[in-house]
Amino acid sequence: MFFKKTSKVNKFRNFALILVFLGVFIMYVALLFKNHPILMTILMILGFLSVFLSSFVYLWVGMLSVKTVQVICPNCGRPTKILGRVDLCMFCNEPLTLDPELEGKPFDKKYNRKSYLSAKKNEQRHKG
Ligand SMILES: [Zn+2]
Repeated sequence: MFFKKTSKVNKFRNFALILVFLGVFIMYVALLFKNHPILMTILMILGFLSVFLSSFVYLWVGMLSVKTVQVICPNCGRPTKILGRVDLCMFCNEPLTLDPELEGKPFDKKYNRKSYLSAKKNEQRHKG
């Protein structure tokens, strides 16, 4: 389920979840190396860092959520959050956009990239 196409907020949450499990797993493995104190310490620190990082990701997602725009998905009718210019519905993965220019175009991650945005800006500059 982690590799399915999903909205960005969901993606970050999944990532944080994986980090928690990874951290706990690494700390568990560390306990198996009781006879190698240095190795055990390194693994413990890695595991702790992983768990620590995941709580940081959760915090970050929480802050990002403030920047998201809540919309009613036209496909499933449920309120979902859009992060960036284009995103997928959290429930049905319907591509959604805030940019009227991109409406109706096939979903593409490149619309979120800065290079695409600046390239478009240059294009407009040359036209005008
Ligand atoms: Zn939807």
